[in-house]
Amino acid sequence: MDRATFDALCAYLRQFITFSAGQRVGRLLPQSFESHGCDHTLSKTTEWLKSQGRNVEADRAWLREYGGECDCKVITSVMIRLDQEI
Ligand SMILES: [Zn+2]
Repeated sequence: MDRATFDALCAYLRQFITFSAGQRVGRLLPQSFESHGCDHTLSKTTEWLKSQGRNVEADRAWLREYGGECDCKVITSVMIRLDQEI
């Protein structure tokens, strides 16, 4: 998955998932945060991947490798890892 695709996925997920007020997600993410709207699965991510006609298994494996075990962690963990690589 390239960065542009990942950003589009995050934009989609952010419609459903919010984070505790006052906490920034990205470079300044605190150690602990509360997410709302995540059911602790990759259900929304999977939905989006399917709608984009992507290889769901391959993308899910890629996201997990970066710590994206569920929809909210795709936004947080994966984003942090990608930011660190830039
Ligand atoms: Zn989650």
